[in-house]
Amino acid sequence: TSLTDLVRGHIREIPDFPAPGVLFRDITPLLADGPAFGALVDGLAEKYRGRVDAVAGLESRGFILAAPLANALGVGMITVRKAGRLPGPVIGVDYALEYGTARMELRPETVRDGQRVLIIDDVLATGGTGAAAVKLIERSGGEVVALAMLLELAALGGRSKLEGHDVDAVLVY
Ligand code: 5GP
Repeated sequence: TSLTDLVRGHIREIPDFPAPGVLFRDITPLLADGPAFGALVDGLAEKYRGRVDAVAGLESRGFILAAPLANALGVGMITVRKAGRLPGPVIGVDYALEYGTARMELRPETVRDGQRVLIIDDVLATGGTGAAAVKLIERSGGEVVALAMLLELAALGGRSKLEGHDVDAVLVY
């Protein structure tokens, strides 16, 4: 679609960032372009209007997308954060990274029972972050409608960690 082309035209590829051998996809050119950023939010809002009761953003870049989308949809935003950032009470999920582990946390009272939640982040890589977010939302009583990702790095197989859930990527590499 044209939204896919628009996004493709505003992503910068940075070799060896943040570590040697990694090809980092930088979304800052997209965010810096007002009409492009606006068209992205409009396109996502059109897709999910009437289907969700809240948008959950994954720290950090997921927040940038979740806030305007939640506003456009007229629903609230839920923040799924890295360990130690949210005041309690929180629930947490640990997950494996290539080297070491990470942890995402959520204040469960920010999710209502039966609430239809859209999870959004900038990039789906190995899927660990998205899978942790699904667990946090479901443990809090929410129902995950879909995971919306700006970019999907298909070679890293993230979808396999999200089986049973709709994963919508605007652009797949
Ligand atoms: P995963 O848990 O799926 O392996 O990694 C996804 C998380 O890592 C996302 O929150 C995303 O922001 C970040 N990430 C991984 N690779 C990239 C990349 O190439 N570009 C950007 N912008 N973020 C990335």
